Amino acid sequence: MEICKNCGYSLEQPGTACPNCGYYPKPPKTRKSLPDWALILFGFLTAIASTLILPILGPLILTAVYYSIKDKQEMYARGMGYGLLTVVVLILGGIALCFAMVFSGSFKF
Ligand SMILES: [Zn+2]
Repeated sequence: MEICKNCGYSLEQPGTACPNCGYYPKPPKTRKSLPDWALILFGFLTAIASTLILPILGPLILTAVYYSIKDKQEMYARGMGYGLLTVVVLILGGIALCFAMVFSGSFKF
């Protein structure tokens, strides 16, 4: 049983116009809180931020969250996926840079 958001009348059939005041509740599917690019950006930033806060645990938790929400929050999960990939690339790049510095340093000594 749903209640009319406009007048508080009890709706016998959810998703239909209110018989009391004529208010028509918008179906949830057409209601978009944010555009796709914003959700992707937000997911991306979530992945980056969680990595900065929890360097190892953050990405692991996010990977689990990614798989649990990717069906419901497709765009947000996609942004998180991009963020996690960026983090992995940066970490691998950092490790490669460390190795390069160690090797170039060992040549000098
Ligand atoms: Zn109503």
